[in-house]
Amino acid sequence: MAVFAHPDDEAFGTGGTLSKYAAEGCDVYLVTATRGEAGEIAEPDLATSADLPFVREQELRCACRVYGIHAPRFLDYADGLLPMVHQGQAVGKVVCLIRELKPDVIITFGPEGIYGHYDHIAVHRWTTIAVDMAADPGCFPHHVDDACEPHQVSKVYFRVMPEEQIEAREEGGKPRAMMMDGVPFPFVGRPLEEITTIIDVSAHVDQKLRGIQCHATQVGRQNRFVEEADDLIQDPGFKREHFLLARTTVGWSDELETDLFARLR
Ligand SMILES: [Zn+2]
Repeated sequence: MAVFAHPDDEAFGTGGTLSKYAAEGCDVYLVTATRGEAGEIAEPDLATSADLPFVREQELRCACRVYGIHAPRFLDYADGLLPMVHQGQAVGKVVCLIRELKPDVIITFGPEGIYGHYDHIAVHRWTTIAVDMAADPGCFPHHVDDACEPHQVSKVYFRVMPEEQIEAREEGGKPRAMMMDGVPFPFVGRPLEEITTIIDVSAHVDQKLRGIQCHATQVGRQNRFVEEADDLIQDPGFKREHFLLARTTVGWSDELETDLFARLR
């Protein structure tokens, strides 16, 4: 189960991983807190501000079909406002989904939220708190019935960007920051020695690229993922996805992990 804030958050750093585990027969679920309606529309004929939540929901449904995972679950919050919503109710929604879907492994943002987006940081907080609460029968007892029992997640991973990927962006002439409300929020990278888990998604790069294309109102019809597809398929930064194992009930490995289900199989 992956928990992110906006449609397309799953695409760039985890689209290959979601596709890989779906192809292996895992039940893969994506939970997205908002419909991304506060973002800009890449090409004006693709949507209007009035129907953007609907269009971005359809785009995320398209991406999930491409990855081969279950249809997305939404927390139904307004884009850009996650730090302002009722935090207890938000955690409760994630607890409820964990108890319903019973994931062995959860992926979410790290505390840096890739570039400090407050929605990303809120989702990181909700998800990590919900993992503990979902396992405790005393927490949210009204959820618990015959169909919805407490559930212990075995591993929690943060989707992270290696520092070298940010340096490669810079060398390729791409900005080192995301613009939000007119100011740059720098990407926050992790040194390679902190990264616990690298997933090789070479066999699923095509799905990852097609998943990104589904998010047309975000990336546009013509974009570098179309124009540079042949290069991206070869690019180690694109065909590997990076994670940090944050919690585990099955022990830690001394070696670099290459499987989110290591020690669980
Ligand atoms: Zn986002």
